[in-house]
Amino acid sequence: MSNVLLQAEARRLPVHERFYSWQGEGCHAGRAAFFIRLYGCPVQCPWCDSAGTWHTDYIPRDIARLAPDELLREAVASSASFVVITGGEPAIHDLSDLTTAIRERGLACHIETSGAFPIQGTFDWITVSPKWHKLPLRETIRKADELKLIVEHGTSIADWLDWLGDDLCAEHVWLHPEWSQRNNPRVLEAINQVVRERGDPFRAGYQLHKLYQVDEQDPRSRPPAPLGGKPALVEGR
Ligand code: SF4
Repeated sequence: MSNVLLQAEARRLPVHERFYSWQGEGCHAGRAAFFIRLYGCPVQCPWCDSAGTWHTDYIPRDIARLAPDELLREAVASSASFVVITGGEPAIHDLSDLTTAIRERGLACHIETSGAFPIQGTFDWITVSPKWHKLPLRETIRKADELKLIVEHGTSIADWLDWLGDDLCAEHVWLHPEWSQRNNPRVLEAINQVVRERGDPFRAGYQLHKLYQVDEQDPRSRPPAPLGGKPALVEGR
């Protein structure tokens, strides 16, 4: 293969799914968005809701490798207001070519990352959702436009605030019940209490798109593969 072909191949990204939907979380909730969900995540949370991107029991056989231009064409054709690059963990990939192409067409580019890997690419909005299973880089936490803390149990928020310390500088700090705990009164009351007592920047969050199931209306999306907080599904792999 010639060098030109090798370089073109190297620019392709492993895409688990892409679809036109709307953002279901955070400050941009309810806005039309084109999602690009990339393959691979070394973080491996036991309650991951995108296990099809990394868990050997759920990875589909056909992972497409798409060029930045192909993804851009689909994003533009969708008429979305902005593009969200997510995963898996999107920061394990060099996103420079893709983000340049998207932004040069006048579309804003957002990323949703655990923050555990340096971000490669230029983004208009950075959402960091830190995970205990692989802690985020402090420099990435400080760049976040919004933080999304996953509340798994009654002390999750206090544990994160303790770890974050002075790096809790994002303008918006969302407190999301981990989906399998969304009816757990202790989790909900922990969120209620922090928002009521401390106010800004804390905000109670929810994954609205899961209620609407809007992602599934695009045939390019894949069925969700939630692990549901069962550590045994991750341990011993
Ligand atoms: S929740 Fe996010 S960071 Fe955790 S395993 Fe799933 S994709 Fe990776």
